[in-house]
Amino acid sequence: MSTFSFTLDATCRESWARAGTIQTPHGTIQTPIFMPVGTQASVKSVSPEELREAGAQIILANTYHLMLRPGSSLIAEFGGLHNFMHWDAPILTDSGGFQVFSLGHLRKLSEEGAAFKSHLDGSPHMLTPESVMRIEAELGADIVLPLDICAPYPSSARDAQEAMERTHRWAERALIAKEQHRPEQTLFGIVQGAFEPELRRQSARFIGNLPFAGLSIGGLSVGEPKAEMWDLLRYVTPELPEGKPRHLLGVGSPEDLVMGVSLGMDMFDCVLPTRVARHGGLFTHQGRVNIKASRFSTRQGPIEEGCDCYTCRNYSAAYVHHLARAEEQLYYRLGSIHNIRFMLRLAGEIRASIIAGTFPEFRDNFLVQYVPTSEKVREDQREKWKAARRYQ
Ligand SMILES: [Zn+2]
Repeated sequence: MSTFSFTLDATCRESWARAGTIQTPHGTIQTPIFMPVGTQASVKSVSPEELREAGAQIILANTYHLMLRPGSSLIAEFGGLHNFMHWDAPILTDSGGFQVFSLGHLRKLSEEGAAFKSHLDGSPHMLTPESVMRIEAELGADIVLPLDICAPYPSSARDAQEAMERTHRWAERALIAKEQHRPEQTLFGIVQGAFEPELRRQSARFIGNLPFAGLSIGGLSVGEPKAEMWDLLRYVTPELPEGKPRHLLGVGSPEDLVMGVSLGMDMFDCVLPTRVARHGGLFTHQGRVNIKASRFSTRQGPIEEGCDCYTCRNYSAAYVHHLARAEEQLYYRLGSIHNIRFMLRLAGEIRASIIAGTFPEFRDNFLVQYVPTSEKVREDQREKWKAARRYQ
């Protein structure tokens, strides 16, 4: 039987922020929480021991990538993802839907599911709500997500509605299939509805009323201006059941974490912190800095004063700058550890402020200090990444 539970520890009076505790078969998660992403059953360049030391309580792995390589049945032979990758804390797997829908011309949608060709070798595959539950049962994560349809940005109202209605039908099929495969896994429902406020409300009510243990908000952060994403959450959150955890899928820059919590979200995942780290972007409370910039070349102190991460405790900014400039392997590890720890420390600070009743001040101070990367820079980066490496 499932040992999953969610309790609310504190709620903010002036915003929708909440602090909660999630119990899973592999341990406890204190929310709000950031989940580092281990696309290929590995958070790039960081070991499970280092993740634990950085305070990671749960990680996310991608079903799409793992079903293609090494294959979910092989992972099942090793007793599931936890054993295979030597991570004994909670894991969440997504459904693969988002990656399949990014394949464009390589996939074909029907009521049955999504047929697609592997980006690795062109081999044909079919994802259905039922097959995704079987694959995720083999991967063995604590929390699993059902197959959904992520409508592109922008979408017509009609396309958005069709995608949402099919997502709802697939959600009901996934609930039945999960019971047949691995009833003890915890299944979250996914709210869709693209950028139509009324559809988002409908989807939140429909998915919220099904027997899912938590809710993931999908289809956001797909290229729209941030303001639009926050506006939609203002419609969605009031429709969601209070007593279930809420996961904002694929969202996770520092300012997103603070804003998302303020708008009632509990869980966040994103490749951004590790991806920008590999490109030299490191988080500080003043904003993202480029460690390759010459101003760091002689700095004796750490990347950020007061940071308790492994990197900042042991290395000068000048050394990290040198490694990044020289493209040394060690840089990728040290930079990623700093950004992961920054996100987890931020989640911890947010949680503490909610419990202390000071979240609104914390949020406002953080947002005044933190200079976010501009919309233009973000879009340019997104395009560059897309061109360099598809399907992640
Ligand atoms: Zn640090």
